[in-house]
Amino acid sequence: MKVPFLDLTRYFSGEREEIYSAVQDTFASGTYLMGERVPALETELKSAFAPKGSGGFVCCNSGTDALTLALLASGVRAGDEVITVSHTAIPTVAAIFAVGGIPVLMDVHPATWVMDPKALPAHISKKTRAIIIVHLYGNAVPYPSIERILKECGREDISIIEDAAQAMGTTVGGVPVGTSARFGAYSFFPTKNVGAFGDGGAVYCRDPEDEVTVRSLRFYGQKVRGEVSIPRGINSRLDELQAAVLRVRLKYFAKRQAEKTLLMRRYREALSGKRISFQEVAEATSPAWHLCVICAERDEDRDDLKKFLSSRGIECMIHYPLPNHLQLGFGLSGTSLPVTESLVGKILSLPFFSGMQEDEQLYIIESINQFLSCAV
Ligand SMILES: *Cc1c(COP(=O)(O)O)cnc(C)c1O
Repeated sequence: MKVPFLDLTRYFSGEREEIYSAVQDTFASGTYLMGERVPALETELKSAFAPKGSGGFVCCNSGTDALTLALLASGVRAGDEVITVSHTAIPTVAAIFAVGGIPVLMDVHPATWVMDPKALPAHISKKTRAIIIVHLYGNAVPYPSIERILKECGREDISIIEDAAQAMGTTVGGVPVGTSARFGAYSFFPTKNVGAFGDGGAVYCRDPEDEVTVRSLRFYGQKVRGEVSIPRGINSRLDELQAAVLRVRLKYFAKRQAEKTLLMRRYREALSGKRISFQEVAEATSPAWHLCVICAERDEDRDDLKKFLSSRGIECMIHYPLPNHLQLGFGLSGTSLPVTESLVGKILSLPFFSGMQEDEQLYIIESINQFLSCAV
């Protein structure tokens, strides 16, 4: 048997007719940017993820742009520090550089693999302007703890941005991640929980004034066409075509995510404790998983397991093999982050996607069990 890491065509097949008709309508509409589909999607995102929130969603061209816009709207200027974790996708850190900020990269918590709020104060300085909390793989950073800690430090001036690119749909105490902090950044990259057929992203702005600012910033700094109201604007529109498709995707989101919840439960039940660990999830958190990442006890086990599964036709990946603080191009080396450095040698992302069949998953679990019973 061959099991791909991800097969997006299966995700597509159940929605084919609706997607084709949404695409045809958009082509026939004659409006490809700044039409009615993006605002309709923004409204639908709000009713799905922030029905009681006072702010709103602003769609843009990618998750990276969503972070960039949030950083710009937070007033991050050249030389300002932005705290985040090293164990995240490259774009989290690339966005900080894109606005001239200085990334201050923290280690992650050894059990949750996300930012440890208690470790935050040691990284705050006079120059800290913003913090990006990353809800990695779908697990959540507890926003209330972050907010409380900033308050205790007397630094409520620091803007908190949630990188919810991997966690659209995750809730903490019933509240969707990305809608608690001042800004939430989402990605519609094709593999993410709600995926487009190309690039796309969205920013949730908790405060209506911030929403106005972000709308201007994504449109060259114009509030009204032809009139620049703020500097440093960029061009970051979401295509009408992607919005049309995303509106269909959003309709099936709960169903797709429920499938993934079931897959995750099966993986966890079958493998937990057998010299394999999973990300620890806080009690009030209900994750909408993006990836299924396991952690082996030793680097050799992970590498051997990856090879063994590959020999059995099972494709796995590593998210991420080289942490951001060690990326040469970022020029941040010098820092040592022991938990992150240890984790990246032991983690393995298993095939995990909507449309994955039960027999495929059982084959993966059986293969891992076989590996574990042979290896010592
Ligand atoms: C995917 C991702 C992004 C960026 O999204 P793009 O749409 O690819 O620009 C940012 N942060 C995290 C954690 C991501 O996984």
